[in-house]
Amino acid sequence: MRVAFSSSISGQKLLQCNAPTSRADRAVGLRVCAIKDGAVLDRKLRVAVIGGGPSGACTAETLASGGVETFLIERKLDNCKPCGGAIPLCMVDEFNIPAEIIDRKVTKMKMISPSNREVDVGKTLSETEYIGMCRREVLDAYLRDRAKSNGATVYNGLFMRMEKDGPEGGYTVHFNSYEEGGKVGKPQSIKVDAVVGADGANSRVAKEIDAGEYDYAIAFQERIRIPDDKMAYYMDLAEMYVGDDVSPDFYGWVFPKYDHVAVGTGTVINKSGIKQYQQATRDRSKVKTEGGKIIRVEAHPIPEHPRPRRAQGRVALVGDAAGYVTKCSGEGIYFAAKSGRMCAEAIVAGSKNGTRMVSEQDLNVYLSKFDTKYWLTYKVLDILQKVFYRSNPAREAFVEMCESEYVQRMTFDSYLYKTVVPGNPLDDAKLAFDTLGSLLRGNALRQGAKTVSFGSKQPEKVAA
Ligand SMILES: Cc1cc2nc3c(=O)[nH]c(=O)nc-3n(C[C@H](O)[C@H](O)[C@H](O)COP(=O)(O)OP(=O)(O)OC[C@H]3O[C@@H](n4cnc5c(N)ncnc54)[C@H](O)[C@@H]3O)c2cc1C
Repeated sequence: MRVAFSSSISGQKLLQCNAPTSRADRAVGLRVCAIKDGAVLDRKLRVAVIGGGPSGACTAETLASGGVETFLIERKLDNCKPCGGAIPLCMVDEFNIPAEIIDRKVTKMKMISPSNREVDVGKTLSETEYIGMCRREVLDAYLRDRAKSNGATVYNGLFMRMEKDGPEGGYTVHFNSYEEGGKVGKPQSIKVDAVVGADGANSRVAKEIDAGEYDYAIAFQERIRIPDDKMAYYMDLAEMYVGDDVSPDFYGWVFPKYDHVAVGTGTVINKSGIKQYQQATRDRSKVKTEGGKIIRVEAHPIPEHPRPRRAQGRVALVGDAAGYVTKCSGEGIYFAAKSGRMCAEAIVAGSKNGTRMVSEQDLNVYLSKFDTKYWLTYKVLDILQKVFYRSNPAREAFVEMCESEYVQRMTFDSYLYKTVVPGNPLDDAKLAFDTLGSLLRGNALRQGAKTVSFGSKQPEKVAA
């Protein structure tokens, strides 16, 4: 028999609903009733955000500021995400990142070809333009704290699983809470109306909604503390190495951090060779990093494309969990933060500031806006990777092309401001001609003709 009751979490009164009948419900202590999409609520909409990286923190901040009762669950509050930590200027502006979060302002990017030809990129930057370099442990903690100060409840917990409470019901989210310390954690559950999966490349939320798999690259990185005189060289400079030795399909990097450099590389097509590519990246940068001490070794998957499904019911994926890293540059921080914010904005708008039940349709609004805004950026970078990272002659042509100030301006504008900048038709024609010349000189077209395909698809949208 079912009887009406009310309950509370963190002192918050919940709506009247049926008493828990199952053992699981009794353990949780309350139910979130079956409520139709769009129905008016007599409490705030409740959303759990799983994962407190840039995507989760930005989702939680926007939800909490928009009137939604928000629970952010992060397994490790001092998490040090393996990452180069490079962020574009638009991230600093749009997400109000304070100066102290940026370790280094890079204004010179050295592109280094397979034959060690060096081209300095950055000549076209104005005095106020730069690539921000940050440590993820610092950036993520700052964004999470900001979500908390805007009203999100932050739990230190490992999300385990969730279940749906009937066709129009909410979700019971189970996690191991580390709030009381200890390594094992204490099982805890909360009832929510919707869930945002921001739990990165190995997302458990994605598995829960059968979101499907994606191809991924494995990226390896060593953080190296180098002598002061060597660090001075990297003060405002980063390096990108290309060549079969450092990666068959990506690039090797040396990025400066606060008091050390991050040296790394990645690959999709030969993951078992990653250590050999890392050694080659170390060897190529050896003169400049000699005498350094390795202070951290880290590796992590990088998604190659969006998952086949990114929303189901009242559950949506954002950031790496959804698969939003660009090809060619391997950039994901901005897209993680942005997708989190866009998803939260759709929930806030759809629920009229947390006063109505949100629907799958609202989540599809987020997907459709994100795809419309960024599809071209992903597409262009995908093509660039296919054309220029496929053989050493093509990579030589790529580095040669970077000499052009026009190319530098276009590249930086696209990266820093996340717009595919329309060029000047005359300069575009000259660029096409020069590129073809570079490719022909390196005999690159013939070598890679069999492997290039321009047929990659637009990220799939979830059916309404
Ligand atoms: C080596 C490397 C270098 C990179 N360099 C750059 C770069 O220079 N610039 C750039 O823009 N991008 C870079 N990227 C990509 C970038 O790191 C990601 O795109 C970005 O971190 C995605 O953010 P996110 O919040 O979606 O996921 P993540 O940053 O992965 O955050 C996920 C969070 O969820 C938590 N979590 C996971 N599972 C659970 C669970 N079950 N319960 C609770 N919490 C959980 C994790 O602890 C983590 O804090 C790099 C990636 C790698 C691997």
